[in-house]
Amino acid sequence: MSTNTNTTEKPQFPEQVTGMYILAQSLKRLGLMDVYGLVGIPVTEAAYAMQKIGMNYYGFRFEQQAGMAAATHGYLTKKPGVLLTVSSLGFMNGLTATANATVNCYPMIQISGASDPTMVDMNMGTYEQLDQLNTARPLVKAAFRCSHAKDIPSAVARAYRAAVSGRPGGVYIDMTTPALGEIMDRAEAEKLFYEPVDIYTPVAPNSDAVARAVKLLSEAKRPALLLGKGAAYAQVDDKIKELVEKAQLPYLAMSMAKGLMPDNGPLSALSCRSTIMEQADVVMVVGARINWMLQFGRGKWNPNVKFIQLDVEPEEIDRNVPIAAPVVGDLGLSLDAILAGLANTKMQADPTWVTSLQAESKEKNTKFEARLKDAGSASPMNHWSAIAAIKPVLESNPDVILINEGANTLDDTRDSVDMTLPRHRVDCATWSIMGMGMGSTIGAAVATGKSVVAVEGDSAFGFSGMDFATICRYGLPCTVVIFNNGGIYNGVGVNPSGGSAPAPTTLDVQARYDKIGEAFGAKSYYVTTQQELTDALKESIASRKPAIIDVQLAADSGKESGHIGYLNPTPLIEYTV
Ligand code: ADP
Ligand code: MG
Repeated sequence: MSTNTNTTEKPQFPEQVTGMYILAQSLKRLGLMDVYGLVGIPVTEAAYAMQKIGMNYYGFRFEQQAGMAAATHGYLTKKPGVLLTVSSLGFMNGLTATANATVNCYPMIQISGASDPTMVDMNMGTYEQLDQLNTARPLVKAAFRCSHAKDIPSAVARAYRAAVSGRPGGVYIDMTTPALGEIMDRAEAEKLFYEPVDIYTPVAPNSDAVARAVKLLSEAKRPALLLGKGAAYAQVDDKIKELVEKAQLPYLAMSMAKGLMPDNGPLSALSCRSTIMEQADVVMVVGARINWMLQFGRGKWNPNVKFIQLDVEPEEIDRNVPIAAPVVGDLGLSLDAILAGLANTKMQADPTWVTSLQAESKEKNTKFEARLKDAGSASPMNHWSAIAAIKPVLESNPDVILINEGANTLDDTRDSVDMTLPRHRVDCATWSIMGMGMGSTIGAAVATGKSVVAVEGDSAFGFSGMDFATICRYGLPCTVVIFNNGGIYNGVGVNPSGGSAPAPTTLDVQARYDKIGEAFGAKSYYVTTQQELTDALKESIASRKPAIIDVQLAADSGKESGHIGYLNPTPLIEYTV
């Protein structure tokens, strides 16, 4: 093996190869064919090498959005999405998405170009110097550094294994410039590639734990099922359906688990969330964390509720409340075992439990429909009238993937648009922070080949808007709908000093986001009425081409923080939003 990082010595292909080639081959041989990134020194050639061997490279305008695409790709396919970044700032821009993926349990691998670590370690002030490995480490599941080309195949395979094993998450590979440029004899390099055995090994739950869970569930008087995005991710749709039907379990879905079981199905308790929290005696939590979104299992919850929790991560158990029946293991195997246990067990639920939930759902749904209908005539439109226009279009196109972020735009769309297919809703998830829109839209379109509609608040869109250009460059079947009320929360904030500068929450209610479509060659629409919005959305979904729809809302539509204003500290000054 000859080792050389001196750029004056040119490698002789095909007898010789470099780390760039080895990286591309390592990904391809593991079936990681889609890479999202933003190139520059030192990784430009790596992306060309990937394209040359038939991989798909998607070049973004902002690394964070490339990372959001990789994360969404991982969530939707159970195979890690791959993010390629340059060193220093590019690395850090991408790392925000990798950290977000780790928090959300999405498998992805960030591969970043990195300066020579011997120079970084001596603080020599080399080009784009940053100790990236140690910067990434606390934010990812696993981190590797390749200082030599020979390390690359093993790093990629181990990163893949780490990303999908146990609780999925983000993994980082520090791909140093010396490793990328190192020349190796091709014959030697060939010996490095290997096919990892059982790259994902599902771990079976303990049989005592299963028996305990089956007993608790079958003896419950008012049982319920709570589905999280871990259940959607695990692709165990048929087993969940069998469980619901066999045990006649009313179910609630966390936002990204919507559609795993149909939102409008006979056992859907979507409109009875409070009743379930207050009255259920046994709740089976599948692939969801009992975190802030579930009031930590306290607050509104029945103080005597017993939880059964199915999760792959043992440390998740008892995190906020004691779990009466933990079932730790892969969801597929856990559900198989529970279904087998239930086959010989009679459910003892109170027969009026389901019927009373159904009656409550019916009443609440009727009220909700009336509310949407009443909003219809508002001019200019508000969130509810706009949602009333998009709801039937989205529901009659159930196979369209919905991407959703914003404050009121997120809350109201999530609460209104029924999902009927699994993994068709991706939103800002556990951190609930804006800035995943265009990246996730692209990742969803690439990973599935399906049409994607992003419903975005005007503020939310701002975080990733430039990557609408990426949708256009790759001609993806994506429609971006922007609810423009001119601000964060709304557009009526007042500068408390009386000065003329915009208030902290104020954006631009007159901005014409549709013009971005003109700049990059997408079909663009500016809509001010429900009919125009309905028509534009129908037409753009049918076209399977990039489209952008600016929905003009009233500046006073929407409230501060949407549904989660209670999370703000108590205010000292009075402000108008
Ligand atoms: P939500 O936000 O929908 O409540 P969370 O992200 O909070 O979902 O929870 C997802 C849970 O699913 C995590 O605790 C994760 O460990 C778990 N999980 C992910 N994949 C699997 C799997 N294959 N088997 C079992 N549990 C899984
Ligand atoms: Mg959760």
